[in-house]
Amino acid sequence: MTIAVFLDRDGTINEEIGYIRNVDDLRLISGAAKAISRLNDANILVILTTNQSGPARGYYDETHVQALNQRLLDLLKQEGNAWLDASFYCPHLPDGSVEPYNIDCDCRKPGTAMIKQALKQFPDIDLKSSYILGDKATDVEFAANAGCKGILLRTGYGERVLLGTYQELKHQPYMVCRDIVEAVDRILGEVQAG
Ligand SMILES: [Mg+2]
Ligand SMILES: [Zn+2]
Repeated sequence: MTIAVFLDRDGTINEEIGYIRNVDDLRLISGAAKAISRLNDANILVILTTNQSGPARGYYDETHVQALNQRLLDLLKQEGNAWLDASFYCPHLPDGSVEPYNIDCDCRKPGTAMIKQALKQFPDIDLKSSYILGDKATDVEFAANAGCKGILLRTGYGERVLLGTYQELKHQPYMVCRDIVEAVDRILGEVQAG
């Protein structure tokens, strides 16, 4: 059985600072690289699933999203010798201003098309035993829709979600954790306990 941890990007792996126009402004949350390397060492798949509507909003083009992704990979390697097994992003937004991105797609979280893409690449993933980590209510909803265990992190928008001042939490998270570091600790504890 293959277990995967699906990770949101902003506010989960890197600091939430809004739309990142300069790649050098992307910075990892403290301990994130080491935490991801622990998942790598435990043979747990680590898969990025991120909404990146910057192209649909006309803030930057899709190649910039890919450059940010590369910066993320470089920092993970430098800071923790960690890697992502796969990366998926949704560049769409239904009421965006830029074609062809202004569509009502199936990949924007909480839609689950990015999970289906991951399953094409890794058919052995057991979704029920897998985790989704994120800092928004939409990440928890994404987990509910995908049939995974949704962990809400207090980093990024997470604290505001818990206070009820950002988005509405429609599903109870499986767990609430301080950050990705604590979440990985708890996940490894569960996986090792079987
Ligand atoms: Mg986020
Ligand atoms: Zn999409």
